[in-house]
Amino acid sequence: MQAFDVQVSGAGIVGKSLALSLARLGLSVALRGAPAATARDDVRAYALNAASVDLLQRLKVWDTLGAGATTAVHDMVVRGDSSAGHLEFSAWEQRVGALAVITDAAALEHELDAALRFAPHVTRADADVGATLVAHCEGRGAAASLHVLDAGFERSDYGQKAIAARLVATLPHRHIARQWFRSPDVLALLPFDRPQAGRSYALVWSLPAERADALLAMESAAFEGELAQVAGAEVGALGLGSERAAWPLVVGGAATWCGPGWVLLGDAAHVVHPLAGQGLNLGLADVVALSAVIATREPWRGLADERLLRRYVRQRATPTWAMTRITDGLLRLFAEPSAPIRELRNNGMSIVNRVAPLKRWLTARALDS
Ligand SMILES: Cc1cc2nc3c(=O)[nH]c(=O)nc-3n(C[C@H](O)[C@H](O)[C@H](O)COP(=O)(O)OP(=O)(O)OC[C@H]3O[C@@H](n4cnc5c(N)ncnc54)[C@H](O)[C@@H]3O)c2cc1C
Repeated sequence: MQAFDVQVSGAGIVGKSLALSLARLGLSVALRGAPAATARDDVRAYALNAASVDLLQRLKVWDTLGAGATTAVHDMVVRGDSSAGHLEFSAWEQRVGALAVITDAAALEHELDAALRFAPHVTRADADVGATLVAHCEGRGAAASLHVLDAGFERSDYGQKAIAARLVATLPHRHIARQWFRSPDVLALLPFDRPQAGRSYALVWSLPAERADALLAMESAAFEGELAQVAGAEVGALGLGSERAAWPLVVGGAATWCGPGWVLLGDAAHVVHPLAGQGLNLGLADVVALSAVIATREPWRGLADERLLRRYVRQRATPTWAMTRITDGLLRLFAEPSAPIRELRNNGMSIVNRVAPLKRWLTARALDS
């Protein structure tokens, strides 16, 4: 007999959400990992889809996020690297309330930590405990565990970094997310209400690592000048509203997601490029799927049973594989410098823009990963 039903290893957003979700099923959970540090607040803001928001609402951490911690995206404008490349999405066309909700990463971490303090069946641990099932949610830090489990994580480095920061604009954001696909970088401006309501953006700028390092080393004014060259006049002048931070970008996944008594979720199982803003959405969808599989298991089936855990893997493998291929394919398509490919991709964007059912299908995939 083990001390706990489940040990969740890794207290990122996926691990904390899983601990809360399993505790609601009445399982005893040990969450291994420290609460988020307040001193090193994450400057990122995540574009969360409707399925992720629904989970966070059910975990009672969504409605308590403070004012300005979430901003709905009503429209999205994507530009290619010629005037022909142009694609627009709208929540109205899609018949949904929002295409995504931009959510303050640090605020969400803190809200999850607060909820965990009151969760009756969750114990925080700083070392391994005895548990029937170990759920690995250690993100990119999972390499050591995956090696021990022989899960075979394949990872390839894009040679890129993503710079994130908060920006303040001179014009209102009007709830429009904007993205520029240029060869080889991708710039995203996500409408946000912090630090200034109605005029802020969360920046995600993916670039070759050397260029990213050069941009990080620049004085603020020079960095803002570089941003203005990409974004042009449509958002007004952009000023930095926070420190800049950068993440090296990789793509990859574990060959095996479960075994007797262990299972992988979130970035520990799969890592995607942030250009489509889907990494965390995939991880939270893992939480929903594993919780449902556990909740509906036969009374005689134990939590460590590999056949049970494989039900979860079967549900998640295809959508994760598809999202990985889409983001990777888009990135490679827009990194290709040759003129015919450039013309093809920009014309392709305009064609997609005119074919309403295809656009609806693409948006639906992103809304529910
Ligand atoms: C710039 C950028 C922008 C992004 N934007 C979006 C977006 O808009 N939308 C979206 O859906 N996704 C986005 N993502 C992806 C998203 O950040 C990740 O997919 C998500 O954070 C993964 O969460 P996780 O909990 O699985 O892993 P992590 O956030 O990496 O958390 C893992 C936790 O485990 C801990 N840990 C590591 N090793 C161990 C160990 N051995 N033992 C115990 N604990 C351990 C770590 O300290 C950490 O707390 C973005 C990523 C980047 C880099």
